[in-house]
Amino acid sequence: MYKAAVLVSPEEITIEERQEPRLDPNEVLIKVKFAGVCGTDIALFSGEYKVPLPLVLGHEFSGEVVEVGSTLEKELIGKRVVAEINNSCLSYRNKDLCRFCERGLSNHCARRTVVGIVSYDGAFSELVRVPVGSVHVLPPEISLKEAVFVEPLAAAIQTFELVPVNKDDKVAVLGVGRLGTLISAVANSLGARVIAISRSKQKLERAKKFGASEVINSSLEDSVQKLKDITNGVGADIVVEATGTAEGLSAALELVRPRGTIALKTTCGLVSPSVNFTKAVVDEIRVQGSRCGPFDRAIERLKSGTIPVGSLISDSYPLEKVKDAIVAANSASKVLIDLENQV
Ligand SMILES: [Zn+2]
Ligand SMILES: [Zn+2]
Repeated sequence: MYKAAVLVSPEEITIEERQEPRLDPNEVLIKVKFAGVCGTDIALFSGEYKVPLPLVLGHEFSGEVVEVGSTLEKELIGKRVVAEINNSCLSYRNKDLCRFCERGLSNHCARRTVVGIVSYDGAFSELVRVPVGSVHVLPPEISLKEAVFVEPLAAAIQTFELVPVNKDDKVAVLGVGRLGTLISAVANSLGARVIAISRSKQKLERAKKFGASEVINSSLEDSVQKLKDITNGVGADIVVEATGTAEGLSAALELVRPRGTIALKTTCGLVSPSVNFTKAVVDEIRVQGSRCGPFDRAIERLKSGTIPVGSLISDSYPLEKVKDAIVAANSASKVLIDLENQV
């Protein structure tokens, strides 16, 4: 038997005792060590992001392989791992591929489920099962706590996989919460000059430690005017919208230069009937969404130790306190569920 924190209805989580799952031939069973709480979990918990329930949340996690399906190499057992969250034909090693997996777009698989988000139980649980193609073995340089950041860091990296950055490009990051902070660090490492914009003094201070060379406090100053000053009146080459609000998107349209790009980074909340896109047409602006990213590259980045992700962790909670952890994550930086040190 094992314990799982189940979201049964919005804002209602119960701890269930469950039977150990029987693995499919290409699945791996992971004993979860640490799981991170992110904005998506907050939106799923509140019901703002609607998915079929009941569901075990948790998609940013690390752990140890305890069992493998019948077709898999036993060597994986005992390995410290992280896992990608999009379950696809490719990650299950299916022979019969859907139209998207056939084209290499496995993150857009027609049969996709998403660990801890869409129709697939996640890692706020003692055990989680995943398809073998999702698993990445961790190098010894990365601790199991730091490894929780592989998933969000991969998502940050994906921003610039789809919107390539040139050296000395001015990248404005609008909203420097958990993800925006990692995006700032990645943009900085790619040679961009990062301008962080937020209403929070504390978040801006943190962004400076993660590669922002300039910060704009939008509760105190006119961010459009200040950005114009910084960029000699041109505007940002790339604006990353990480607030998930209509105001953020409207501001992004004002901050970006003609022929620049707006990168959209939030999967919830960006319902914006009031945004006027005329400027996008007049200034020939490109809008690029992006979601999950390359785990191997995120692992390499963490291994190098250049992004101080450990400093983002503000608190950790036992599995029984998942609800408190999610509530705390509303205002804290990174909250972890700690399944390693449970008594
Ligand atoms: Zn997340
Ligand atoms: Zn597929």
